[in-house]
Amino acid sequence: MLKVDLHCHSNVSDGVLAPAAVAKYAHAAGVDVWALTDHDEVGGICAARQEAQQQGMRFVSGVEISITWANETVHIVGLQIDETNPQLQAGLACTRSGRDNRGHEIARQLAVAGIPDAYEGALKYVGNPDLMSRTHFARYLVEIGVCASIPDVFKRFLTEGMPGYVPHCWASLADAVQWIRGAGGIAVIAHPGRYKLSQTAQGALFDEFKQLGGQAIEVVTGSHTPDQYAVYAQLANSYGFLASRGSDFHAPGESRVDFALLPPLPANVTPVWHDWF
Ligand code: AMP
Ligand code: MN
Ligand code: MN
Ligand code: MN
Repeated sequence: MLKVDLHCHSNVSDGVLAPAAVAKYAHAAGVDVWALTDHDEVGGICAARQEAQQQGMRFVSGVEISITWANETVHIVGLQIDETNPQLQAGLACTRSGRDNRGHEIARQLAVAGIPDAYEGALKYVGNPDLMSRTHFARYLVEIGVCASIPDVFKRFLTEGMPGYVPHCWASLADAVQWIRGAGGIAVIAHPGRYKLSQTAQGALFDEFKQLGGQAIEVVTGSHTPDQYAVYAQLANSYGFLASRGSDFHAPGESRVDFALLPPLPANVTPVWHDWF
């Protein structure tokens, strides 16, 4: 059976390894079909593709777009995109702008909470000045011993109601799906089990996404609990979505589920890659 991983990050967004190093890491973990899906950025695709081909892995060009839907931040993955598409690139550039100001505001709030110099601290982890992420702040808070781990950071800081939470208005669902489709890609709702949406709201998101031309949801992801694999397999089938699978890898030792240990998709779904090869 093909081992497929369609959700990974490099240091072009909030991962720690360079795109080519992620390709090597994925290959070493036994991946046959691999997508790099950096947040709001396609700058790593070229190097990732080159190294994937070198390793004999099939490469899928991808991106993970931050959107705001019903006041919630949701992530939409685009797969099989033409990363040179001008409209997609302009949309992503627009989505990235504002991250730096947000970073300063996060740091200001953390200073009030007794943690000085967090902007400079987080910046040490930033590989792409255009893409300062909460993850970079999280790594700094672990480094200075304020928190024991990255998940611990997101329980105590940087999330709604906690110090360092700065609401941000991202792209719209319609824009993100249209950028992806305009670039010849397939739109996928990333880790649907992670959003704080009621069942009704989640249904409305799925309906709207489908109406806009969205085709798939992630079912098996490092961001789901094992219980959620079956839940989202069933939902994929009832909404007529294809199913995707990806580790959401950011760094060796940092992920909830190791690259190599993520289970395959349940047998009852149609994989998003069913007609690719
Ligand atoms: P941002 O796009 O700057 O808002 O940062 C979002 C990133 O923070 C996600 O892509 C994850 O990498 C990370 N993140 C968010 N929530 C959590 C969590 N509960 N545990 C671990 N990482 C998280
Ligand atoms: Mn991330
Ligand atoms: Mn995500
Ligand atoms: Mn991700």
